[in-house]
Amino acid sequence: MRIRGRTKPKCIRKRTTIMEKILCYSCNKSKNKLSVKKSSLLPINLFMCESCISSKFEPRWVVILSGRQLGSDAVKDFIIKKRYIGTEISASELLV
Ligand SMILES: [Zn+2]
Repeated sequence: MRIRGRTKPKCIRKRTTIMEKILCYSCNKSKNKLSVKKSSLLPINLFMCESCISSKFEPRWVVILSGRQLGSDAVKDFIIKKRYIGTEISASELLV
């Protein structure tokens, strides 16, 4: 004879993590917390970590891309103040 004990509901399934390993678009590091931030240069959303957001960084490729699209004046501020991570963006990279 079976004794009816308290059984745990079987419907609890482990949630699969969707956001497995997203790297910060700016510093390329995997962080526990990434936030979606709208780029201040391009009409796109970026995944960035808190430290990059608070430093008002833009990913290097965003600076280059918008420099090509909008002209170097649009990104001058970013380049002079080096508000990106990575090697220095040269003028030739902004010209296509
Ligand atoms: Zn970052």
